[in-house]
Amino acid sequence: LTEKLQNVFRSLRSKGRLTEDDVKTALREVKMALLEADVNFKVVKNFIKSVQERAVGQDVMNGLNPGQMVIKIVNEELVSLMGSETTEIRLQPGKETTVIMMAGLQGAGKTTTTAKLAGKFKLKGKKPLLVACDVYRPAAIKQLQINGEKQGVEVFSMGENHKPSNIAKAAMEHAAKNGNNLVILDTAGRLHIDEDMMAELQEIKETVTVHQTILVVDAMTGQDAVNVASEFNEKIGIDGVIVTKLDGDTRGGAALSIKAVTGCPILYVGMGEKLSDLEQFYPDRMASRILGMGDILTLIEKAEADIDEEKAKEMSQKLKKAQFDFEDYLESMKQMRKMGGLGNILGMLPGLGGGMLGKAGKTPEIDSDEAQKKMERMEAIIYSMTVKERRNPDILNPSRKHRIAKGAGVDISEVNKLCKQYEQMKKMMKQMPGMMGGRGGKKGKF
Ligand code: GDP
Ligand code: MG
Repeated sequence: LTEKLQNVFRSLRSKGRLTEDDVKTALREVKMALLEADVNFKVVKNFIKSVQERAVGQDVMNGLNPGQMVIKIVNEELVSLMGSETTEIRLQPGKETTVIMMAGLQGAGKTTTTAKLAGKFKLKGKKPLLVACDVYRPAAIKQLQINGEKQGVEVFSMGENHKPSNIAKAAMEHAAKNGNNLVILDTAGRLHIDEDMMAELQEIKETVTVHQTILVVDAMTGQDAVNVASEFNEKIGIDGVIVTKLDGDTRGGAALSIKAVTGCPILYVGMGEKLSDLEQFYPDRMASRILGMGDILTLIEKAEADIDEEKAKEMSQKLKKAQFDFEDYLESMKQMRKMGGLGNILGMLPGLGGGMLGKAGKTPEIDSDEAQKKMERMEAIIYSMTVKERRNPDILNPSRKHRIAKGAGVDISEVNKLCKQYEQMKKMMKQMPGMMGGRGGKKGKF
């Protein structure tokens, strides 16, 4: 497949903006790649459509050909579709006991994952109680007991002759007496979606307070994963998903399908049969795995790094010569927006980190919206200047400033602030020559 892709890329020679043809050609290959990775076909169809809309007309980055540019966009969309960040299982606050119910088809990995989770939470200082609510499979209770013992975690069971909801209820009483602050209910699956199974899970939910319902899905489920996840979500409601058996050679399209259809976060991935084989879910790694285009993604990263470095060098030259004017200011803001992660970069640009942009430099996650707004206002001010003014900020007298303020729709005090900011920045640059140099190379650095 990779070879096929490369051929496609070679044939895409046009530079500048992505044409509809560029995008269509590359997306045909992406579609195949996603289907090969077992992403549900409906999900693929919607995904391709939305990327198509986003990609046509976009600039092709230096160092990439149009095909690669499309892959860059595809990768970004995949990552954002899968949640962008890692998600933790939400525990109840304070001393309150958290109840987690595991759900999923037979063989998905519920029992194994129950024990894996118990181990993780035990390390975090929790005192888990595992509850054997699977009363159908002969060896199910025993299996949980063995796994619980391996993890050094207590298992609550009442044999096979009780209703799962009653077992759950009794387990809650036991947990209260015993000081367990985390209860994980291991439930029974079926081979297929089945009314009895759903009813049983619902009954447990009606009997005890379940805080988190976690769906366990086998990565090999492939195309079916969507149906499984949406049925479970509709019937009992799920709060998060764990995808197991990703240690195999499946590309893990199930993860994408499930997230796309239910919107529920993927929490962890199962990476083996051992009880330590449970890993945090990283959307970017998963995107790269599903796309199966590691080489191209590496190339894209490199192109990004090169661009950052190029710009940083150019900027630092200007700064050294103290030629930094409002045109450059504007350019640097444009760059930042393109590179995303505004807060990160702001913190590194002296003069922008403090003062006018508030706390953006120190607490990027919190204030980046605010910073974005301020930055837009600053841009508006600069755009209201004539080119001559931008290049020679020294000529900005009160009457010019007044005109600029009016043009930008801001108070004159804001224009003054920006000018002051600029002066400070320039001064700082003079004092610290070379401070912007030698920093390029890494993404997100300026
Ligand atoms: P349940 O029916 O949902 O409770 O599934 P089990 O926990 O009994 O797991 C079914 C099988 O899958 C067992 O043989 C497990 O060892 C295996 N299994 C579970 N999770 C993983 C995983 O992440 N990787 C691999 N390779 N095997 C797994
Ligand atoms: Mg089981």
